Amino acid sequence: MTVFGCRSCDATLTVPLSRVALPVHADQKYGNGPGSLAPALEPGTFAVNPLPSGPPWRRWAELEAGEAETLGWYAPRFSISAGPVDRVLLAPGDVRGAVIDLARVGDSGCCGLDGGEPNMVCLTCGTPVAIRIDDCGLRQAIWLDPRTTRVIEDGPGPHPVLDWADLIDQRPGIPPSEPGGGWHPMWAATAASALAHLLAASGGDPILIPEHQVAEVFRSTLGRLVGPVGTRPERTLVLAGPGLPDPDGDFALIPEHPQTGEPWPVAPPTKPVPLAWDSWRHLAFHQTPKPLGRSAPVPPEALPALLPGYRFEPDGHIFLSVLARLPEVRQPQLRAIYERGRPYNYTSYVF
Ligand SMILES: [Zn+2]
Ligand SMILES: [Zn+2]
Repeated sequence: MTVFGCRSCDATLTVPLSRVALPVHADQKYGNGPGSLAPALEPGTFAVNPLPSGPPWRRWAELEAGEAETLGWYAPRFSISAGPVDRVLLAPGDVRGAVIDLARVGDSGCCGLDGGEPNMVCLTCGTPVAIRIDDCGLRQAIWLDPRTTRVIEDGPGPHPVLDWADLIDQRPGIPPSEPGGGWHPMWAATAASALAHLLAASGGDPILIPEHQVAEVFRSTLGRLVGPVGTRPERTLVLAGPGLPDPDGDFALIPEHPQTGEPWPVAPPTKPVPLAWDSWRHLAFHQTPKPLGRSAPVPPEALPALLPGYRFEPDGHIFLSVLARLPEVRQPQLRAIYERGRPYNYTSYVF
């Protein structure tokens, strides 16, 4: 159990929490509202961003030569964070003893708080301790500021770390479609991140995807990015992970442990392509229902599209920001793909 408190006065600022991995959709902006997105974290958990994040921002053009690469950026951005490392993400219901200070709420939000600057203060001493975010299209979130908060109690948390077998049993994954149609926002983020890793692993070459469900998610977007399969030597992307046989492919879509962030190990020469657990679990074990009254196996090409009528749009902002953090983006073929985001200041992408 971890409890965070105020550095200035030691007041308690959270309920007891267990650490989990920082989800790729932690900072997601999706659609144009109205309303914000569900928190990226379950209640009772927290995640730490080890990289500089949040305000203030520095314009790319103002960076010294070589500075960007030192900071882990390998392709241009419009601006990068010069915020603190180790900001702590919470679900909003888990904060205690801190309140929104209206004097600190900027006017840059649309319908709510956009998290421009710290806007929550310690109720006991008035120190700014956190950023509350609830603007339209953004994830509901609280980010604790590590400069003014600290761990005041540490130990095993309310959610013990599960092993891979327990994860299979207890964390069933999330389907890509929402009840009202369209793609689940988390999927747009997790698939975008996996796509960036796949490009880095493959150098931007066409890839065969034999499994129907995996192909449904990645094939058409990948085709638009790197061209049709068949024009160059092809390699294969398969699923690998707990409960599956050893992978027989050049690239393996592997799960990341949702609590520890640990990737499922694969042996070379297969290259791992990480995907968030909740997406991977669904892809690996969800069976497309067979039509009633048929006993013969249904060939993959006869199965209905995963989401008829909805073209999959991975999250362009997350795609670009993950790709820009991978050194392989310096390869000309990948840099050219990346540069298609330039007209939008690298905040969006037309797949
Ligand atoms: Zn709005
Ligand atoms: Zn305080």
